[in-house]
Amino acid sequence: MITRSPRLLQRTDAVSAASIHRTESWQTQLSRAVRDPRELLARLDLDAAWLPGADAGHDLFAVRVPEAYLRRIRLGDPADPLLRQVLPVTAETRTPPGFVTDPLAEAEHTPRRGLIHKYVGRVLLITSPACAINCRYCFRRHFPYAENSPSREQWQESLDYLRADTTIREAILSGGDPLASSDARLAWLVEELAAIPHLQRLRLHTRLPVVIPDRVDDALLDWLAATRLQTVMVLHINHPAEIDDAVIAACARLKDAGVTLLNQSVLLRGVNDDVEVLAELSEALFAAGILPYYLHVLDPVAGAAHFDVPDGEARALHRALRDRLAGFLLPRLVREIPGEASKTPL
Ligand code: SF4
Repeated sequence: MITRSPRLLQRTDAVSAASIHRTESWQTQLSRAVRDPRELLARLDLDAAWLPGADAGHDLFAVRVPEAYLRRIRLGDPADPLLRQVLPVTAETRTPPGFVTDPLAEAEHTPRRGLIHKYVGRVLLITSPACAINCRYCFRRHFPYAENSPSREQWQESLDYLRADTTIREAILSGGDPLASSDARLAWLVEELAAIPHLQRLRLHTRLPVVIPDRVDDALLDWLAATRLQTVMVLHINHPAEIDDAVIAACARLKDAGVTLLNQSVLLRGVNDDVEVLAELSEALFAAGILPYYLHVLDPVAGAAHFDVPDGEARALHRALRDRLAGFLLPRLVREIPGEASKTPL
């Protein structure tokens, strides 16, 4: 039985106000996400000329945009940096050499169903096959979730794997988006993990507090605050316009629950390939209590080549960013290379 932590009773006025204005549960918001390209264009006052490309991209990787994210996109602007992350386009049907379905070779590092063990001391658990939003550049857009969605019984195999390897210090819940799972399921899993003596940290890779800030509700905060594991949440925010008042309030609640907040971004053509945008992003992240952690260059996944920023340009942007920001606001520019023992700095 999980009990409420006293930390959770210390809420800011802004947080309380955000809760009062909530109208729908996160589950309802998730189920009502826009899933039709025609509806997406209509809602955003975009020309029907975008429809053939949107349909073609949608056939490869379905559209999914929750209302809370949709509200942050400018109407009638096909170049909006948030829209570019979610609108399928014709370019997704073109796959230049080097862009593949499994760019990080994850299939080679899956010793148990739903478990990826690539790095020393850390194991990643595919906790949910679903996301609240489908990001067009996602390196897992072709991931075989159906083959990697364990039942509760199959979870025992993964837990046995963690119990048997005393070098593992950290469990990473990923997906999909792990917070797309129910709190009952997550609370059970985290209790099982916390019972493994050599595990010290729990990490969650999630975009849900950003795209549906109401996901950060009491049920989530209860199990986060109750676990003995040190908890780190790595959010995924690419542009400062993604950080609105509701996101700031959600982050405040997570910090009240003792969660360390980090952010990883992907450097994306037409979204954030601009030093002013990246500097503003770092400032906005820190103001919301989130440390800029990684700036990833694009993983070469089939369907996302139009987002690619060449390495030379990425390095020049990062140098310019370094000249603008305090060191603790500068994310590390990295690439993930299959087979390497860690992320590779550029
Ligand atoms: S896993 Fe992350 S990047 Fe990929 S679609 Fe889901 S939220 Fe977006």
